[in-house]
Order: sequence, then structure tokens, then C-alpha cells
Amino acid sequence: MPEFNPHNYVPAENLLEGRVILVTGAGAGIGRAAAMTFAKHGATVALLGRTLRKLETIYDEIIEAGYPRPSLAPIDLGKADGPTFFELADSIRNEFGRLDGLLHNAGILGHKTPLEHYDVKTWAEVMHINLTVPFVMTQTLLPLLRESKDASVVFTTSSVGRKGRAYWGAYAVSKFGTEGLSQTFADELSNENIRVNCINPGRTRTAMRKAAYPGEDPSTVPAPEEVLGPYLYLLGPDSKDVTGQSLDAQ
Ligand code: NDP
Repeated sequence: MPEFNPHNYVPAENLLEGRVILVTGAGAGIGRAAAMTFAKHGATVALLGRTLRKLETIYDEIIEAGYPRPSLAPIDLGKADGPTFFELADSIRNEFGRLDGLLHNAGILGHKTPLEHYDVKTWAEVMHINLTVPFVMTQTLLPLLRESKDASVVFTTSSVGRKGRAYWGAYAVSKFGTEGLSQTFADELSNENIRVNCINPGRTRTAMRKAAYPGEDPSTVPAPEEVLGPYLYLLGPDSKDVTGQSLDAQ
């Protein structure tokens, strides 16, 4: 199979037609752009985020553009427990009967601090949102993914999740864990119709990037809309047999 090249990939206009895709962190940044673009390519998107107002804004924009009607899942993943995820699965089952795509995009940065001084509470929060929640959510949604003829799970990694870098603390470690989680699910599901992969969006102009690099000129950083090639590729039929991979968007 030829290696995926994000710069050459041209997605079909109706690439995601008929697919139901859940996007976490859909209210802002890369998740927002991904949800909008998935809808533009025909997907029905389930918008999960912690700020209802942001979700309602993107909901209205999707409706106004004439794309398939999305659904809303206002959930603070930091507070969510087991029952919350089962309720989420039930509501997707009742509304759509299956799930074709799951984009784990929500994430938090924590602090950029040497490990020697890293705050333990922040460590636990970052590991929870970035790693434990995607694990539990995937586990809970597996029965719904099995109802799809062609399901795709995408985790979000980072370059600091492949090679350790000073001061990135729990964020870097959570992204190393994300790579491992993705590969392990991919291997366990390799005989099923569910592929599992990671994407590293690379430097992207969002609130998280600004927090990580406050001195950077944002105009020098690609916009979220410019990094979506691999997201479309992995969530659509073109990546049918691709699993256990970690793709770069840039
Ligand atoms: P942003 O901080 O801009 O957006 C993060 C999104 O996640 C927001 O919609 C936010 O919701 C949501 N979110 C955060 N915490 C929770 C929570 N507790 N419950 C529900 N939703 C939550 O980040 P980016 O768009 O930059 O990042 C998206 C992904 O890409 C992350 O996984 C990040 O690690 C990764 N990444 C980003 C890079 C970059 O340069 N931007 C580079 C490499 C990886 P709300 O807006 O309501 O707070």
C-alpha cells in the first residue's frame, strides 16, 4: 500500500455521506474545523464538548450550510464517569443505531514545567482527559462501532508523544500512551471491521498552541482547516485496510 501523503490527498466531495461520526472537543480548534469539514463531506456529526454555547454555534453553522443535522453531546470529560459514557452510547444508539467514526480530539495541555516540579494534580487531570477518557469511551462505544460496516477510530497524538521533550510533562507522556492505546486496540480489533489509528496534526493555530507558545506569531502557524487531510482519509472509505498507523498531517 502506498504511504499516505497529506499533501496529495484529494477527498471526494461526498466522502463521508451516510456516516455517523462522533467528534470530541468539537466546540473549538481542530475539533471544530474537523466536525464542520466532516459535515461538509456528508457526515452526520455528533458534537461532543464541554461548552454548550460553542457546540450550539457550530450546530447552527452546520444547519445553515445545509449539511446533515448534527447531534449535541454537552459533556465535561473531566467530570464524566462510567454512566455518562453508557448514556452517550445509548443516545447514539437510539438516534443512529451505529457509529462509523470516532475522533478523539479533545485534549488539555497541562503545564509546561520540568517533571521535577510537575504538579501531581495537574498530571492526573491531563492523563485522565488525554488518555483514560479516550480508552473508556472507545471501550464503551465498541458495540456501536461493531454495528458499522466500516468503522474508524482516530486518536490524536503529538510529536512530543513520539520523542520525549523537556518540560512537556504529562502532556507528552499522555500522548506516548495514546500511541500505545491506539496500537493495542488496532491489534485486538485487527480481525474486525474497525480500524484504529493516530493523527499528529502538527503545529496548528488554536488556543492550545497559543498557550504552549505564547510568543509565537499566530499568522505563521497553519489554520485547523489546513491539517484535515488525514482526518478525512482515516474517517472515510479510502483508508479501508489501514490500521495501527500514526499519520502526520503536515
Ligand atoms: P484546543 O485547546 O484549541 O481545543 C481543545 C478542545 O477540547 C476544545 O473544544 C475544548 O473544549 C475541548 N476540551 C478540553 N477539555 C475538555 C473536557 N474536559 N471535556 C470536553 N471537552 C474538552 O486544542 P487543539 O484544537 O489545539 O487540539 C486538539 C487536539 O490536537 C488535542 O488532542 C491536542 O493535544 C492535539 N494537538 C494539537 C496541536 C496544535 O498545535 N494545536 C499539535 C499537536 C497535537 P472547550 O473549547 O469548551 O474548552
